[in-house]
Amino acid sequence: MSFTVAIIGRPNVGKSTLFNRLVGKRIAIVDDQPGVTRDRREGEGRVGDLSFRLFDTAGLEDAENESLEGRMRLQTEAAVSEADAVLFVIDARAGVTPLDDHFARWLRREKQKVILVANKCEGKAGAPGLYEAFGLGLGDPVPLSAEHGEGLGELYDALNEFAPEEAHDDYAALDAAAEESDDIIDESPDGAETWRDAKAPDTIRLAIVGRPNVGKSTFVNALLGEDRMLTGPEAGITRDAIESDWVFEGQPFKLFDTAGLRRRSKVTQRLEYLSGEDTRRAIQFAHVVVLMLDATTMLEKQDLTIARMVVEEGRALVIAANKWDIVENREKALGHLRDRLQTSLPQVKGIPYITISAERGRNLDKLLKAVVDTYDTWNRRVSTSRLNRWLQDMTAMHPPPLAKGRRIKLRYMTQIKTRPPTFAAFVSQPTELPDAYTRYLVNGLRETFKLTAVPIRFYLRGSK
Ligand code: GDP
Ligand code: GDP
Repeated sequence: MSFTVAIIGRPNVGKSTLFNRLVGKRIAIVDDQPGVTRDRREGEGRVGDLSFRLFDTAGLEDAENESLEGRMRLQTEAAVSEADAVLFVIDARAGVTPLDDHFARWLRREKQKVILVANKCEGKAGAPGLYEAFGLGLGDPVPLSAEHGEGLGELYDALNEFAPEEAHDDYAALDAAAEESDDIIDESPDGAETWRDAKAPDTIRLAIVGRPNVGKSTFVNALLGEDRMLTGPEAGITRDAIESDWVFEGQPFKLFDTAGLRRRSKVTQRLEYLSGEDTRRAIQFAHVVVLMLDATTMLEKQDLTIARMVVEEGRALVIAANKWDIVENREKALGHLRDRLQTSLPQVKGIPYITISAERGRNLDKLLKAVVDTYDTWNRRVSTSRLNRWLQDMTAMHPPPLAKGRRIKLRYMTQIKTRPPTFAAFVSQPTELPDAYTRYLVNGLRETFKLTAVPIRFYLRGSK
């Protein structure tokens, strides 16, 4: 395997936890050589369809006769010289410490290799630290929770920039050119939000997930042709997943086919283990996830768990209600779905749902159009000037409340990244701003800038 990734960072930021998360159940090899490589752990890491040799430098911290700084310098140098990509981990709960800062300064010279990872980002406690991390000059930090397994989708995207084609399960099919253009999304000129029109479309990475028997295989077969999955080259023998490429109305797609994976798992009797792991991997891989439901039962608990996972990973979600051909009371079925979405997934408004019949090939084009639209939304960038005019209107309409006798001021807003849309607002007393006010702003963003159906990240930043 030719892709090597190292994890570095000061003690206690979660390097070992991240190592274990990426290596999973696979056995970690402990390298017992004395000297610099002492206690280094190595293993085969995996995210999405990407495999790499991972080493973790946690052991170096225990080396004797060296200052912490000296030890970090050693591991940093070793990692930078040996790895193709370096994961520089900080603890977002603790914020950026002087030691992090010190090494970031050093690492900036090696910028082309470094992925900044803000760990412990589950819940809200990591938000300020994550925001600080943008200031380290090492590019956009990847918000992650190694312990909870959140944010691996964004880590996958970041690693993808460094990964050689062979690191992917299906490297033959990889369209390198399309991948490269993936992240060249500059701020568009004022008012022009449809950057997409300006260039050839990116390849949309799509995953179809859902409970067994909802019709995923039938759907994939309908899209790609019946014999594709059964006779695909070495299907499931050496690869963990099957990828397929196709073009729909000029839009290239790459499909991460978990249905094929499941078929293989039936053979190897590992169904239970694979199905959860499978879904997670597919979501990490995808830009847009289609959650397939059986329309005769609609949204069940297990479906909601998957939907939440998609949102947490910052992916765009489209729901396909399959087997529409055998639903008797269609009004009732749709009403049930709408209610369920509203009560159980309130954080993402306007998730598109399309009723289809995979077996009869009904509405499949409509579903793909919804996927393309949602992908565009996920990539949308709102110009800073529009955003701030909007912010003025919003605060004029509903001024923020008083805190400690002074009115909280929202001074400025900017979109710090896309995929998913991520915003930062500069606030005079960030900890005092009520959640309800943040929700008011996020809902307003959704409505005004038509950011429906995708997760929105929103950070508050202190300012005088
Ligand atoms: P290392 O010294 O950098 O290898 O850090 P460890 O992996 O040993 O983790 C240090 C501490 O942080 C442990 O108590 C972990 O349980 C905790 N930790 C690791 N990842 C996370 C996370 O994502 N969230 C939270 N809240 N704690 C974490
Ligand atoms: P998977 O486990 O999600 O891959 O589901 P399959 O594709 O294997 O389908 C499970 C069952 O549902 C099969 O018996 C299919 O024939 C049936 N099925 C799939 N799509 C449809 C559909 O649109 N309408 C109806 N009536 N049955 C379907």
